[in-house]
Amino acid sequence: MTTVRDLRDVLAAGERSYSFEFFPPKTDAGEERLWSAIRRIEGLSPAFVSVTYGAGGSSRDRTVAVTKKIAAQTTLRPVAHLTAVGHSVAELRHIIGQYADAGIRDVLALRGDPPGDPNGEWIAHPQGLSHAVELVELVHELGDFSVGVAAFPERHPRSPDWDSDIRHFAAKCRAGADYAITQMFFDVEYYLRLRDLAAAAGCDTPIIPEIMPATDYRQISRFAELSGAAFPDDLARRLHAARDRPDEAHRIGVDHAIAMAERLLDEGAPGLHYITLNRSPATVEIHRSVTKTRSTHALSVRH
Ligand code: FAD
Repeated sequence: MTTVRDLRDVLAAGERSYSFEFFPPKTDAGEERLWSAIRRIEGLSPAFVSVTYGAGGSSRDRTVAVTKKIAAQTTLRPVAHLTAVGHSVAELRHIIGQYADAGIRDVLALRGDPPGDPNGEWIAHPQGLSHAVELVELVHELGDFSVGVAAFPERHPRSPDWDSDIRHFAAKCRAGADYAITQMFFDVEYYLRLRDLAAAAGCDTPIIPEIMPATDYRQISRFAELSGAAFPDDLARRLHAARDRPDEAHRIGVDHAIAMAERLLDEGAPGLHYITLNRSPATVEIHRSVTKTRSTHALSVRH
């Protein structure tokens, strides 16, 4: 059973929340890799770990299964990502109920992307929800959950301008978001701009920056294209040059992430959310490096 503190208490106490993100694997080998990463990260006592929600079908069942298994078989606090894509409200209620039954009390409430083409037109399920703000309200209505939301340092790719982007983000905060996690980004200035715009809009919800180690040129180019994240020329050039030398590429990506993480924490970021891709080495290295010189009270404490 989960023994780490309630996420809301960690954030309310002004402590830093360090967390790690996984995705539900498709194969037995992937499952093995995931669990070896989870066991390694368990030793770091993060504030929480999260499991992404698939685009549809069996990957969604695997999200629910992995999240429940983390709650039942580890000391970690699992946060379940949940999207409104293709679900009626009745189905969403059922999934949230399943989590509550399994003792899971933390949900990252997302709208999700149109299936097939993430940049295509968003069409809500006829009996479903149109925007993440409605899912925040639904999860709170169904029980005592902590609820997180998404934030976009380079604004959401479908938002026509910053004004509407921040207005809708602030609506999620007012609806009861306990914290936000950002989309991946590779330049700290984007995070600082978002933080300042959100504060100016009256939103004081802690915004946790996502750290994606850029250790593989091909993979990162694909992710950056999908998420719309701008990739700094210098980093792209160095990673490209090292594309057939994995050790060198690893060093470049990890060093860049450490420098970003250090600056984010110095700027007062409320924590860091690491994308693991179900492999622990890069994120563990980054985490160890950034916390080594910082006081341990910033880490979650086990009871
Ligand atoms: P929303 O907050 O609903 O915003 C979507 C767009 O609609 C924005 O442009 C917003 O400005 C606009 N909008 C919001 N409210 C209104 C309104 N009332 N009227 C008009 N426009 C409005 N996807 C997955 O499928 N599975 C995952 O597990 C997953 N995890 C993620 C984790 C993080 C940390 C992040 C940042 C993203 C994640 N995503 C995931 C991707 C996410 O689902 C997409 O980026 C999606 O397009 C936006 O989701 P949202 O929750 O921000 O939506």
